[in-house]
Amino acid sequence: MNYDTFINKDLRKRSLPSSNHHPRLRWGLFALGCIVIGAVLAHTSEPSIETPAQTELLELNSSNNKSFTRLSQSLELPEDTLTPITISHIEDKYANWDSVTIRSGDSLSSVFTRSNISASQLIEVTQQKNAIKHLLKIHPGETIKLSADEKGILTGLYYDIDISQSLLVERINGELQTTTIEHNISTRPHYASGVINDSLFMAAQDAGLDDNMTMELAGIFGWDIDFVLDIRKGDSFTLVYEQIYKNADKIKNGNILSAEFINQGKSYRAVRYEDPSTHKTGYYTEDGKNMRKAFLRSPVKFSHISSKFTTKRFHPVLHKFRSHKGVDYAASRGTPIRSSGEGKVIFRGKKGGYGNVIIIKHGSRYSTLYAHLARFERKVRSGSRVKQGQVIGYVGSSGLATGPHLHYEFRVNGVHRNPLTVSFPSAKAISKLHMTSFKEETADLFGQLDVLNRNQLALNQ
Ligand SMILES: [Zn+2]
Repeated sequence: MNYDTFINKDLRKRSLPSSNHHPRLRWGLFALGCIVIGAVLAHTSEPSIETPAQTELLELNSSNNKSFTRLSQSLELPEDTLTPITISHIEDKYANWDSVTIRSGDSLSSVFTRSNISASQLIEVTQQKNAIKHLLKIHPGETIKLSADEKGILTGLYYDIDISQSLLVERINGELQTTTIEHNISTRPHYASGVINDSLFMAAQDAGLDDNMTMELAGIFGWDIDFVLDIRKGDSFTLVYEQIYKNADKIKNGNILSAEFINQGKSYRAVRYEDPSTHKTGYYTEDGKNMRKAFLRSPVKFSHISSKFTTKRFHPVLHKFRSHKGVDYAASRGTPIRSSGEGKVIFRGKKGGYGNVIIIKHGSRYSTLYAHLARFERKVRSGSRVKQGQVIGYVGSSGLATGPHLHYEFRVNGVHRNPLTVSFPSAKAISKLHMTSFKEETADLFGQLDVLNRNQLALNQ
């Protein structure tokens, strides 16, 4: 039992006899107990607040940027993105209140104690039913704002229920009153672009993208481009994405709306679109083809490797395919290996120079092979069904291998094909029936990429 639970249990025991004569008090103390449980059971959820965009990122709504005028005209931004929103009076008013971060095991009682608020105030708060139903769900890591007078009498409590709503308990004419505040949540388009010099992560960072956004970008193109082996110095990217604002403040990034990746001179472009026939949102090419394929281009997540990765390092590997029928991914021992497609394990064990090897059959035509593994994922056995992207084993140097690496082969009808260049079957394209509306609805998104590319060229000259 932790300290806070103890305190509350103790408090409840002492108060119970008198509470028979005060039904309201009993409700209050019952709720108090629940608060403790709620807070203890709740898992830690750190709110993810993005850092502000860096200088290279040209904000579409930044008026002192020269590229702004041209861009905003061509992009036809919605009106509200151009009108500055004044800082809400709400935040001004409560800015000076005591901000308390909820710790694991906290109860309202311990929070009030830390803020020098009298214990008697708990009962009054628990009588605020609209407030208490939200306060019961507070997670460790969240904050509440409190204000009290010099006698420890609560004068205000402020808590963000979710992104769009806040709870306000205020003492008005001596009585606590609960209100819910609705925030103005808006989505604004934003763009970033960059040229790769050392690694995608570094270029993305320079463009003001956080790692999540970079992974999402790689996820969109990861069916066509192997982000471990294919990336070259001079590759570039452009993307339009959403930034979510709460009142006047940017609080997080939203979805990537459209993106272009130029890899070794070849351009790949995609837009986010909800297929009207399946209601599934995905990324599509200009002619409505699904970016998603039956196989991931790389059986190793580039994020596991890219910290040491430079464009030079992996280059020589590509010349090897002809002689040894596969591609090698230099990676440290223990790096997770994922099945590039959905299928069935037809072999798992030792096989000569391959060392520990897994062979997966994908339908009747395709099979993939993963060799030199240090060890297998325990649940993946011969005969197991595996999902696309499921971890099947870990990089090692078993068999004939000079150092830890993954040897990967891709076969079509039993014939070895270069996994970096072979074409993969695609997921469902936009149907003919919906093609006209797809083209109409996505023309602007592709048009924005054109504008941004022209702009980028102009800036570089
Ligand atoms: Zn090899």
